[in-house]
Amino acid sequence: MTEITEYICKHCGKTHTDLPAIAFITPYHYDILSDNDKANIATINEDFCVIEHEDQTDFFIRTTLKQKLVDSCDFLEYGIWVSLSEKSYDDYNDNFNNDNHETTYFGFICNQIPEYEQTLSVKTNVNTQKGNSRPIVVPHQDQMDNKFVFDYYNGITQEEAISRVKAMLDN
Ligand SMILES: [Zn+2]
Repeated sequence: MTEITEYICKHCGKTHTDLPAIAFITPYHYDILSDNDKANIATINEDFCVIEHEDQTDFFIRTTLKQKLVDSCDFLEYGIWVSLSEKSYDDYNDNFNNDNHETTYFGFICNQIPEYEQTLSVKTNVNTQKGNSRPIVVPHQDQMDNKFVFDYYNGITQEEAISRVKAMLDN
């Protein structure tokens, strides 16, 4: 069972809250498939998902987005999926075990994050990281009219983050 715990911050000496990540184990585009389609046209594991529709094939990878908090030194972490071009997907797949592969892909967010009107299709840079960590997603700044992107750049409060995590845990 995931719990929300408090700790004294080594950096500023204040009490912060240790927040579990808000993680999606599948992309939205997989969730909406029928059971039959999930079995027949989709392949998925912890990091990769491919959906082969008749007219097109969609490629998804699992990533991390770090939401800045205005009143804490910590981040709220989202485990989200993004869609990539086939070329980017292949490159990521080919270099999955390459510890020194640092590059940037273009991707669209493929999860609907609770409490936001619309997070699907938010444009992002997907930055791969050295080592075995998941790529870090950075929304493009020219979408400030989207509240999720606005919050990403302006920060949310620790209280907002806690209520969001609790809502996820209750689901
Ligand atoms: Zn602190």
